[in-house]
Amino acid sequence: MRNAFGLMLASIVAAVAIAGVWYWTSPRADAAPSQTMAAKPATPLPAAQKLAAKDDVETTASLSSRLAAMSAAPAATAAKPACANPDALGVARVVEVDTTGGPGFGFEHFKQLDFLEPKEVVLTFDDGPWPGNTPAVLKALADECTKAVFFPIGKHATYHPEILRQVLAAGHTVGSHTWSHANLNGKKMTDQMAKDEVEKGFSAVKWALGTNPSPFFRFPQLEHNPQVMEYFGTRNVAMFSCDLDSFDFRKGATPDKVVNTVMTRVDKIGKGIILMHDFQKSTADALPVLLRRLKAGGYKIVQMKAKSTLSTLPEYDEALAKDMKLPTVSSRPVSSVVQTVAQ
Ligand SMILES: [Zn+2]
Repeated sequence: MRNAFGLMLASIVAAVAIAGVWYWTSPRADAAPSQTMAAKPATPLPAAQKLAAKDDVETTASLSSRLAAMSAAPAATAAKPACANPDALGVARVVEVDTTGGPGFGFEHFKQLDFLEPKEVVLTFDDGPWPGNTPAVLKALADECTKAVFFPIGKHATYHPEILRQVLAAGHTVGSHTWSHANLNGKKMTDQMAKDEVEKGFSAVKWALGTNPSPFFRFPQLEHNPQVMEYFGTRNVAMFSCDLDSFDFRKGATPDKVVNTVMTRVDKIGKGIILMHDFQKSTADALPVLLRRLKAGGYKIVQMKAKSTLSTLPEYDEALAKDMKLPTVSSRPVSSVVQTVAQ
């Protein structure tokens, strides 16, 4: 609005200047380059600048009064929501990822982007949302005032959209993990089927969240399909492998085993992206202890966020709504859908 207002002022001032009235009456006219006034209405705008400056001053003034009001309150509450746990694991650092070109993370498959410092870890959870387990994971994370990245399965998102919305509402990053957890490197997987799995998965997450997901993706079973990887380059989707696997999905995985697997491995490699599953009860049960162990071990949590969101493809949004008979709200204006062509 301010720019539009400024432009409007610019036009008015220029028009007045052309008429030759303002130029000679303004006390600041001598400072303006006289020869360009008519030709370049955007250049000599002392009046507009003055108004704009006033606008800035007002903004600054209201900002400083707000800051003054904020400084009266405890600093922690002004900066971020207070954490009830003074000994919480917390979040040491938030990083923003520019997903242009489809970067890859996690040393098991992608060794280029080594952005974590020693003792820094990223928590990631796949295969949700799922009743019981996902809320338990959310509670454990909230108790430690820490954040993670979630890679939900599209189908699960359509079964339990309210749980996925809780994940987003708690401030976590939400990407995607295909529509049905298909192995994108499977023998019968065609390029079209792989694209459908990917895009329908993102559309399902968007439907559940009511907003675009983060352009973050993890291949099911870490089966990286080269064609899909190339496709992500054009879709600007970041791919996530991991640095260490909790193996919480294995038969016989217990909370103790999950904690020991993660701690043994992280102590060995010193940092990394940890792969877990909010779908798994063993992880849901292990997490309170695991987060305490990470804290005791001096590890710091890094939260990964995306610089921009992923725009889902409308044809997949529509196909999903049709397949699932999901309630949907068309984002297109009536005039772009229905037009009178004869009367
Ligand atoms: Zn998975």
